[in-house]
Amino acid sequence: MSRLLIDRLVQPHLLDLQPYATARHEFGGRAEVFLDANENPFPENAYNRYPDPLQVTLRNKLAEIKNLRLEQVFTGQGSDEAIDLLCRLVGRPGKDEVLVCQPTYGVYAISAAIQHLRVKEIPLTAAFQPDVTAILKHSGPQSKLLFLCSPNNPTGNLIESDRLLALLNAFPGLVVVDEAYIDFAGPGASVLPLLAQYPKLVVLQTLSKAWGQAGLRLGMAFGHPRIVELMQRIKAPYNLATPSQQLALQALQSEDVFTEQTQLLVRERERLSKALNGLPEVLEVFPSAANFLLVRFEDAKSTYDKLLEKGIIVRDRSRVAQLENCLRITVGTPQENQRLLATLQSAP
Ligand SMILES: *Cc1c(COP(=O)(O)O)cnc(C)c1O
Repeated sequence: MSRLLIDRLVQPHLLDLQPYATARHEFGGRAEVFLDANENPFPENAYNRYPDPLQVTLRNKLAEIKNLRLEQVFTGQGSDEAIDLLCRLVGRPGKDEVLVCQPTYGVYAISAAIQHLRVKEIPLTAAFQPDVTAILKHSGPQSKLLFLCSPNNPTGNLIESDRLLALLNAFPGLVVVDEAYIDFAGPGASVLPLLAQYPKLVVLQTLSKAWGQAGLRLGMAFGHPRIVELMQRIKAPYNLATPSQQLALQALQSEDVFTEQTQLLVRERERLSKALNGLPEVLEVFPSAANFLLVRFEDAKSTYDKLLEKGIIVRDRSRVAQLENCLRITVGTPQENQRLLATLQSAP
């Protein structure tokens, strides 16, 4: 039933696609002499062999951490690869459409446009929540994907669960919830438990933020086994290099470092938020469940320039609709945050 529901959304020609079978796919047993993949046999370095195309060890570890089954876990080069694959999986070029709730992460609209999908931009409400009525009013049979981001970049807030449930129940296509910042949002904030009930839900996470591994390019998509299987079918055969797989596994094994750093950053976020609120040029610090703060200044441009002059860069979002005079500030180390505050407090 769920599988049929998913297959109806997928581009029809992909359902029959025979994926490239790598040498490592074709032979799954144990062997001592590998003459099947045209590799250089001299192990002068650790990388003379092709990586595991299915990333089984890594995916098993993630499944264990996330309390899911291996078949529900996709891994790729950053969440960005998963976003691109989802667009390609369901979107018929020139025919289908993708809905995004602005202001949000820019990659959704760009990946959709590359696949030649129409992008419908539905503004978030004044409280930065998805506008359920507007989304459903603007969706139809060609609406193959809805991208939601929770906590949302750049606004920092979580999506209310009743809104998400309403969309999961009524949106015709896949509902993708990007949880890149979920580890900063406290326990129980993730919507992963909803996967059991909603085959059209896909949850994205990443090692780039709380896990501190942005340079590895390691992203995850969690979803129905059929969606994961189809994403694997259309990905590049060896999309994750051996060192990426190994280093990701290593990072996942040092969970205590990760937890400690995440807690420290959350404390710093709260401290920074209070301190910024006390500055005369700050009009509003928006509540954040992520590792950044969206801050409205009296004059974002002059604040931006003042910081830049002292070697501090923040993200200028002031030209984005609904974000007039807003800067997005990442929470740094306590020393970096102190330097930011001292610079803001100094005379112009
Ligand atoms: C940073 C970020 C990501 C991370 O992308 P990767 O490709 O995994 O590094 C994904 N989504 C959002 C909303 C982000 O801000």
